[in-house]
Amino acid sequence: MNIILMGLPGAGKGTQASEIVKKYPIPHISTGDMFRKAIREETELGKKAKSFMDRGELVPDEVTVGIVKERLSEDDAKKGFLLDGFPRTIDQAEALNDIMSDLDREIEAVINIEVPEEELMNRLTGRRICEKCGTTYHLVFNPPKVEGVCDLDGGKLYQREDDNPETVSNRLKVNIKQSKPILEYYDQKGVLKNIDGAKDIDDVTSDVIQILDDLK
Ligand code: AMP
Repeated sequence: MNIILMGLPGAGKGTQASEIVKKYPIPHISTGDMFRKAIREETELGKKAKSFMDRGELVPDEVTVGIVKERLSEDDAKKGFLLDGFPRTIDQAEALNDIMSDLDREIEAVINIEVPEEELMNRLTGRRICEKCGTTYHLVFNPPKVEGVCDLDGGKLYQREDDNPETVSNRLKVNIKQSKPILEYYDQKGVLKNIDGAKDIDDVTSDVIQILDDLK
């Protein structure tokens, strides 16, 4: 079961990824997580990736494709994998094709969790944090009892700079532009599966599982 998971920030990709790996014996391989771990552990890879990540840029393909190739060749990925955050460019998609051919395998499904931009804005700008204790709330999903005030210690709630509407909207636009060609690429190959990610989490999970069960 060789799968790619796609979705814009806030679409619920992380939640669905953890549900998928609970149900199927495949590793969740996230290039972003691999880079963050390498940076934490101060490895050579981490040193190479850090400056690009700090600037919000893509890590160059010669680095990224190399780590994906190594990771997909490991034993635990022999039965399949859930790839997340890769490919981000058509060159990476082509490189993945080559990697798969070398392994005598192919990508069976690209699951794209679709959520309207307006709903993503609601999800991503609703976070509020207590300035005293750091507890996180969400205006829609986990609101405090009294608006603007922490339930635990009465601290004032604030919005992080990253979560303000302008920043979020820009982040979404960049992501939409980046992912569009990738989605088209896999659509042409006939493996793209769009899922309605605006539904309740459990319903989204059922839809994902339905698709994966159909692959077996
Ligand atoms: P993510 O957690 O997927 O948003 O990735 C965080 C950061 O890691 C990105 O902003 C990039 O700097 C880097 N990164 C992750 N995946 C890739 C990729 N496929 N190609 C290049 N850079 C990547």
